[in-house]
Amino acid sequence: MKIAVAGAGGFIGGWLALELISRGHEVVCADIKPMENWYQVHEKADNRVLDLSKFESCLVLLKDVNQVYNLAADMGGMGFIETHKAECMLSVLINTHLLMAAKELGVKRFFFASSACVYNASKQESNDVSGLKEEDAYPAMPEDGYGWEKLFSERMCRHFYEDYGLETRVARYHNIYGPRGTWDGGREKAPAALSRKVALAKATKTNEIEIWGDGEQARSFTYIDDCIEGTIKLMDSDVREPLNIGSDEMVTINQLVGMLEKIAGVHLKRKYNLNAPKGVRGRNSDNVKVKRLLGWSPAIELQEGLSHTFNWIEAQIEQNIGPVK
Ligand code: NAD
Repeated sequence: MKIAVAGAGGFIGGWLALELISRGHEVVCADIKPMENWYQVHEKADNRVLDLSKFESCLVLLKDVNQVYNLAADMGGMGFIETHKAECMLSVLINTHLLMAAKELGVKRFFFASSACVYNASKQESNDVSGLKEEDAYPAMPEDGYGWEKLFSERMCRHFYEDYGLETRVARYHNIYGPRGTWDGGREKAPAALSRKVALAKATKTNEIEIWGDGEQARSFTYIDDCIEGTIKLMDSDVREPLNIGSDEMVTINQLVGMLEKIAGVHLKRKYNLNAPKGVRGRNSDNVKVKRLLGWSPAIELQEGLSHTFNWIEAQIEQNIGPVK
């Protein structure tokens, strides 16, 4: 099968393209970034630098393609999405133009990467929340900016199926993390940001770490290998409604820091920045539906996934400032 991966220069797209190639597919990769900035460039893929917010570029990417996975978006962690709402919402152009091009060119299947940020904020006000079920997205009160774009694009996928018969699949990702993702620069998410801070504190022997908020915000984190497996299973299934692809192992940020300290072999003084972006108070994934419909649930525990991620980030830092050990 010929499969296009939009946003293949990014974190999830890079790993997804690799897995699709290893399963024997012909893969076309596209990203707006210059290729030297892609997190992974696969020699066996047809790699293109394209701005997929433009309809014409979407037509180029999807020529003779059977399936497309849309992982392209202007996104980042809380520090980015709380301060770049218009930019996040402009990602609507990417999904819209990809859908239009897919319809015009007769692409068979379309995948859209949505987010747990679509869920109603009133269900995420305490840190002992129960997992978010797929129906908890309505009545709609998603994350301002980024979450609204995701919810709107989810519905566009639904209507492209209902009105035009384009088979669409939607995953609601819950905090995906792992090696070869964004780990500095302002767009990184909590596991990468905290891994970097712990590794730097260790390297520079400052023995101190800044934590955003009081550290009692709770989240679940999904390792990249689980995400890729769930994504492909969903794409290949008959499930046309959005499904959670997330872990249900919820921890507080303080607990996450504790795990990283154990991996790094350090004990750090915690400084809390109560004015930093914090996001919702508690968020977890309810996996009952995805398990029933896809037979998928995450296999990699947080401690193990974090250790791979920390080791990779520590190696990146060592390349810049010398040995950390
Ligand atoms: P990422 O930032 O690493 O990858 C996104 C890629 O899209 C980037 O390489 C970027 O250059 C590219 N892109 C942006 N605008 C583009 C354009 N106009 N044309 C072509 N490419 C463009 O992010 P990621 O973590 O790999 O996320 C992939 C998708 O999954 C995104 O839609 C994101 O919103 C969604 N998602 C991710 C997470 C997570 O925890 N990583 C959680 C929920 C949802």
